[in-house]
Amino acid sequence: MKILVLNAGSSTQKSCVYEITGDTLPDEPLTLLWEAKVDWTHHQGFAEIEVKTAKGEQLQEEIPADSRTQVMAHMLDTLCKGSTQVISQPSEIDVVGHRVVHGGKDYHESVVITEDVKQAIARLAVLAPDHNPANLEGIEAVEQHLGTVTQVAVFDTAFHSHLPDAAAIYPGPYEWVEQGIRRYGFHGISHQYCAQRAAHILGRDLASVRLIICHLGNGCSLAAIKNGRSIDTTMGFTPLDGLMMGSRSGAVDPGILIHLLRQFDNSVDELNNVLNHASGLRGISGISNDMRQIREAISQGNSRAQLAWDIYVHRLRFYIGAMLASLGGLDALVFTAGVGENNPEVRAAACEAFTFLGLKLDSEKNAHKPVDVDIATSNSTVRILVIHTEEDWEIACECWRLFE
Ligand code: ADP
Repeated sequence: MKILVLNAGSSTQKSCVYEITGDTLPDEPLTLLWEAKVDWTHHQGFAEIEVKTAKGEQLQEEIPADSRTQVMAHMLDTLCKGSTQVISQPSEIDVVGHRVVHGGKDYHESVVITEDVKQAIARLAVLAPDHNPANLEGIEAVEQHLGTVTQVAVFDTAFHSHLPDAAAIYPGPYEWVEQGIRRYGFHGISHQYCAQRAAHILGRDLASVRLIICHLGNGCSLAAIKNGRSIDTTMGFTPLDGLMMGSRSGAVDPGILIHLLRQFDNSVDELNNVLNHASGLRGISGISNDMRQIREAISQGNSRAQLAWDIYVHRLRFYIGAMLASLGGLDALVFTAGVGENNPEVRAAACEAFTFLGLKLDSEKNAHKPVDVDIATSNSTVRILVIHTEEDWEIACECWRLFE
């Protein structure tokens, strides 16, 4: 089965092709036949396209970004034409899997995309304005370019759809429950992959391990996993809740928003911009949303970068503590995504707060670019894993599970 995976963000579009053969899914992610990345932020009015194939062919070009759909059509063309060709015609693709960020209350698992599903994704764009519209454009670009191929929506909210009510329902008026205002949680595809991978690395059955997964990228969230399911998570009704992130605030006192509306007459768009784009590491440091630049500025004595780091670490520990309480115990603490995988200082700072539980980080292992390994000392009471998240592979697996 040849599966094209599309993973659309607000400023980039990642795409890849896997071929899964055989009757069972392999334990390890397969090598990509083809992968492409479109970056809309590189050069105003242009899109940068980078394509790589398993055979080592590479292509890099910049094209006018007249419309997102046109740029995507151009990217999809490289699948069946030119030096990066890996199939002879679009009909060789059996399924296209899309990461869709918000599935709302109706979608608890991956589904084949129909007109109804498209309308639901569009309707839910108010809750994930940076993502759902881009996901929909990806679906439409495939319809226009690859014709009648079956498309599947894999929702970032689905893995959290069995949160207990006490964790999912906000203590507002009961009407909120009826209106679907509840904690949905996000990064579900990554949390699901990491949970399975963690169980595999530990040599345990997923149903028997209690995990806290720290997905720390530009967006950050924790998930508490018990009996193979997410039972608590830090993102909420939208991807804005919980931890401090690259440019998102995470949870803030809702009274602050009332204050801003009353005292400064802020518009909805201004509030949205402040909370989603001008807060977090970027907002506090005034430097960047990128943890590498924050670390660099700290080493040069920048006090705002230091403050941003201190808040980031404080909140990470705070929410790990909350997930611990929800789980009532812990077998492994898992770090993943850009910061979680690459920043040993974040891992060390998070773990330090829990040494009283007997959780012990091996500083040697932590420092040496760990990938899919245990970095706890042998006498640690809790394992500490670093896992390279493979969202695209998990999307391909979901497509495979739906059809095989
Ligand atoms: P996204 O949420 O956009 O998928 P990623 O998971 O790719 O984000 O994480 C991006 C972030 O990872 C960057 O903003 C940067 O802060 C961080 N990052 C990437 N590489 C490193 C590194 N070597 N050291 C520290 N942080 C890193």
